[in-house]
Amino acid sequence: MTESTIRSRRFTAGLLSVALAAAALVGAVVAAPAQPAQAAGSTVVSLTFDDGNADQLAAAATMNAKGLKGTFYIISGYVDQPGYLTRPQVGTIAGAGNEIGGHTVHHLDLTTLGADDVKREVCNDRVNLTNWGYPITSFAYPFASVNPAVEQAVADCGYNTGRGLGDLKTAPGTPCADCGVSETLPPADPMLTAAADQVDSTWDLARLQSTVTRADAAGGWVQLTFHHICASACDTSPENATISAALFDQFTTWLAEWQAGGNGTVKTVQQAVGGAVKPVVAGPPLAPAPGPGENGVANPSLETPGAVANIPQCWWGSSFGSNSPVFSTVTPGRTGATAEKVTVTNYVDGDAKLLALFDESGCSPTVTPGATYSLRAFYMSTANTQFAVYTRDTLGVWTYWTSSPLFTPATIYTEANFTTPAIPADVTGISFGLNITANGELITDDYALYDSNGAPLLAISPLLPTVTGTAQVGAVLTATVAPWAPAPVALSYQWKRNGTAIPGATGLSYVPTSADVGATLTIAVSGTKAGYAPLTATSAATAAVQPADAKTVRYDGADRFATSAAVSAGVFAPGVPVAYIASGETFADALSAGPAAGAQGGPVLLVTKNAVPTVIAAELARLKPAKIVVLGGTAAIAESVVTSLKGTAPTTRVAGADRFAVSAAVSKAVFAPNAPVVYVASGANYPDALSGGAAAGLKKAPLLLVTPTSVPAAIATELGRLKPAKIVMLGGTVSLSPAVEKALKAIAPTTRIAGADRFVVSAAVSAATFTPGVPVVYLVSGQNFPDALSGAAAATKQGGPVLLVTRDSIPAAVKAELDRLNPGAIVIVGGTQAVSAAVATAAGSYVS
Ligand SMILES: [Zn+2]
Repeated sequence: MTESTIRSRRFTAGLLSVALAAAALVGAVVAAPAQPAQAAGSTVVSLTFDDGNADQLAAAATMNAKGLKGTFYIISGYVDQPGYLTRPQVGTIAGAGNEIGGHTVHHLDLTTLGADDVKREVCNDRVNLTNWGYPITSFAYPFASVNPAVEQAVADCGYNTGRGLGDLKTAPGTPCADCGVSETLPPADPMLTAAADQVDSTWDLARLQSTVTRADAAGGWVQLTFHHICASACDTSPENATISAALFDQFTTWLAEWQAGGNGTVKTVQQAVGGAVKPVVAGPPLAPAPGPGENGVANPSLETPGAVANIPQCWWGSSFGSNSPVFSTVTPGRTGATAEKVTVTNYVDGDAKLLALFDESGCSPTVTPGATYSLRAFYMSTANTQFAVYTRDTLGVWTYWTSSPLFTPATIYTEANFTTPAIPADVTGISFGLNITANGELITDDYALYDSNGAPLLAISPLLPTVTGTAQVGAVLTATVAPWAPAPVALSYQWKRNGTAIPGATGLSYVPTSADVGATLTIAVSGTKAGYAPLTATSAATAAVQPADAKTVRYDGADRFATSAAVSAGVFAPGVPVAYIASGETFADALSAGPAAGAQGGPVLLVTKNAVPTVIAAELARLKPAKIVVLGGTAAIAESVVTSLKGTAPTTRVAGADRFAVSAAVSKAVFAPNAPVVYVASGANYPDALSGGAAAGLKKAPLLLVTPTSVPAAIATELGRLKPAKIVMLGGTVSLSPAVEKALKAIAPTTRIAGADRFVVSAAVSAATFTPGVPVVYLVSGQNFPDALSGAAAATKQGGPVLLVTRDSIPAAVKAELDRLNPGAIVIVGGTQAVSAAVATAAGSYVS
């Protein structure tokens, strides 16, 4: 709340000003002062007090006993709040002959606000103070933060002066080259008057005195600024700008004697500068309340960063009670790039939350008395959360109003919603946010406030309908639709072909026809309810519909995550024993997961470091796995992701110091000693391990990663535990050096499957493992890993190998292997940018 934290003009010149200040001091020894000398005894001192802190009442009494008067800059929206002066106390201070000045309604950094909100903050504060019976002519800038537009607004609101900070020399050596020892009277720029830096706990009596007496020769005006004058149990950190009541008493005793001795005069700012009290000017009207169906929240998706680090524009990190909150932004958001996380530790009581800025409507939504509002936000949390709701009255005072019922911890983005009671008569604005009241994490995004009359309907998370089944003529596609709120909501369905409604396709299931071949399908779910705006939610598009006799199936999604969900949805039925979760941003952990997942009959799904993509959350909700295993340490997948997954199924993490340790840990968790065979591949690149994954899966054998030139200790230990009957190395001597082979041979009989390149290796692995007539062959890109990662577990589930192709061709060795295998079907994982349509068509010719 003090003015020190944001720029003061003194610091803007940086190092150059230090050098100039030193030069000026040297010059002062030999040269006369640059300023014209005034008569001794002409100095005017003003004692100013910022923010209306409660402890200033006693300071005013101390001054009054010595006949001194000061200027008290009041934040009208904070009067009567805990820690601040009450209305009667402000009256007591004014009644003793002190001046009351303006300091805005809410003490925000005016340079960060829109033009209308600057005027509301400055003008409406002056209106409030005037209505309380005080003549208001003097203003102080919060945080001394000011620019020409803000100065003009202060003048336009009818002020005679505006006070800055840090523009006077306060002690020898003060690094302020262009600062004088006093301001002139009248001031050069009355809307930005020079004042000493704020007084804080580093000041002693000598510095207070010298700030006054340094002006003896020049005369002029010295403004001193106080925040807290504390009698006991004081916060002495400089940021709190506190001095002791004893020091204040000493200084004011000295100052009264200084004045009595004819050295100068102590005056209020109004007395020092003079000027008539100008008419009051109201600020612009508040922003209008949101219209029907209009979201009243500013920066609702938290995408625009604010002036404060880790806090989006138009929001602030709020907390009270005894706890240690840390606010941070996380990427990606539920929508867009940004969501907000609050992490609480040391929780004893109180709460922490993101709230709409407590302002005069630039950021906080305006509301209409009598109306009710639907408050909404999406969250993931490890603890219960609830909306805390605050209101602003006609003066601008913000107070706590009410809270919603509790919402339970959520592992995927879940929409919280709460309809407020009717807005009370004297309320003009609202601020709300989801809070956390325990040690843990809360991630929020996509806030909304709607007038209940005309609010959009709610579709409970996962918001979008999902489609399961194979996109093939004659197969059945079925939509899953989550409940909508507030119940009951009338729902209707419409299947669409390439975005165009299919006549008559209005049920939850749809059987593609020949007219759909080559097109993608979606289902749109529309909800209607009296008094609410209708809402439509559309599923992700299916893969392109295949003919009834399709010999190739392509699993494809909008991104690597959607592709992994599509593979899972196409291959695994609900009730799988396990789902493995790996990073989609690096490949190593997902490679190790393939055989382990495949051996147990579960899929591998991909996530980002900080979030479970919506499409994966929906697939997990469909799969209902008995358990979830997360692969990798917190550098790969954050603990918040693990926490969030625990809401879907019991979740454990298999971590290790590096990819090799992770691969050893995965094996140890699944495979028993005396393994018939263990596969070993390079962890430095993905192709060999990828094709080896399906082979290992078929044999229910582990796949362990090593470096190209050594067997890491964790792997050696795991091989010692497994005691394999044999080891199969995947890849040539570039991938796995003779030294690796030698080390492995020392453990068990070892063979190597090699080839001229990754494609040849994939064909050789298949040839060594699979017999002709396999039900399916998976084709994945040998050039780009993300889409391919989910393939091994699915191929294992279906009893087929994984072969590598390029985007535009099937390498000769792979063609030969396809010829030998005579597969029942081809599955392609990934879009046409990974494996082209021409390759898919060509591969289809190998199907029996
Ligand atoms: Zn202030």
